[in-house]
Amino acid sequence: MTIADRKIAARRLTDAKRVIIKVGSSLLVDAEKGRLNRAWLESLAADIARLRRRGQEVILVSSGAIALGRRHLKLAAGKLRLEESQAAAAVGQIRLAHAYKELLDVHDITVAQVLLTLGDTEQRRRYLNARGTLNTLLSLGAVPVINENDTVATAEIRYGDNDRLAARVAQMVGADCLVLLSDIDGLYTANPHDHPEAQFIARVLEISPEIEAMAGGVSSSMGSGGMQTKIAAAKIAVGAGCHLCIAKGAEQHPLKRIEDGARATWFVPSSTPVATRKQWIAGTLKPAGAIAVDEGAVRALMDGKSLLPAGVTRAVGRFERGDTVSIVGPDGAEVARGICAYSDSDAARIIGRKSAEIEKVLGFRGRDELVHRDDLVLLKA
Ligand code: GLU
Repeated sequence: MTIADRKIAARRLTDAKRVIIKVGSSLLVDAEKGRLNRAWLESLAADIARLRRRGQEVILVSSGAIALGRRHLKLAAGKLRLEESQAAAAVGQIRLAHAYKELLDVHDITVAQVLLTLGDTEQRRRYLNARGTLNTLLSLGAVPVINENDTVATAEIRYGDNDRLAARVAQMVGADCLVLLSDIDGLYTANPHDHPEAQFIARVLEISPEIEAMAGGVSSSMGSGGMQTKIAAAKIAVGAGCHLCIAKGAEQHPLKRIEDGARATWFVPSSTPVATRKQWIAGTLKPAGAIAVDEGAVRALMDGKSLLPAGVTRAVGRFERGDTVSIVGPDGAEVARGICAYSDSDAARIIGRKSAEIEKVLGFRGRDELVHRDDLVLLKA
């Protein structure tokens, strides 16, 4: 791809109405001194101001709280214990928010801090509530700065990486473009650190198993995300009709550089985004449990039918009515995801039964379907 081609690709950023910018920890925090990279952040603030002047709405998803806080608290190098990273996040987040406020104030931009926990995107009611808040902030002209609420997040109930969090936010607000600013300039056919011959991929039209295999395990020294979490984020974003760009953020003015034709990998959404409710179901980060079904049920699902208790062989994990569950075929592969109308214990009791028997078994009359087709997305074509 030539620079001219790359500039054309970058119109996805310049033409977008709503843009999400995800900033990785390694860009924000100086690896040696453990301080904020202030000059770099100033240049990012100037880039964001340019987007705002063009009339674009911007949301920042910023990492860096733990990386900043751990150095301020002089915590030893290496893996932090959960309570140490929670403490580090509390110290780092306030410094991060302060820096964004100060640097965007210069451009007369109002900053709004939003700290999310996994439930805010994974539980439908809370998702709609968070969406309402973000939409209001954007309509009032503010730039939300989002991070995970790491101080209260525990290992089981956290996103862990801001790549997927940013994609869930992009989906939530119907963004047109998500830029993941990282310490690598995009996707390669193999990890370029170990394979110097690896080829750069400028455009991905379909996230095939080959593309997923390329992600390998490239990880950054400071943040939690690697190429795998970026590909997972891309899946969520493109499913929601949002372009996603992985670009190197290390130089100053990272957004301007993309517009000027810097190398980046673009993931292009399919032309027919699925309905938003179904996107949300498909993008669930951690399904609460799984329902194993027989071959006949797999076929019925493929034909667009609902999942009835009769075709179910097992319910796995703990879930409540209304939680999203994986539906797995006899070979263990996930075929669909959907919102289950029964809790795991109720589901276990009606497994293999006819729908007409549900009332007799449970003592109340629930839905005939375990997962209604309106609440279900197929993951295999
Ligand atoms: N939420 C984490 C932080 O602010 C970063 C997660 C990530 O590295 O993606 O420190």
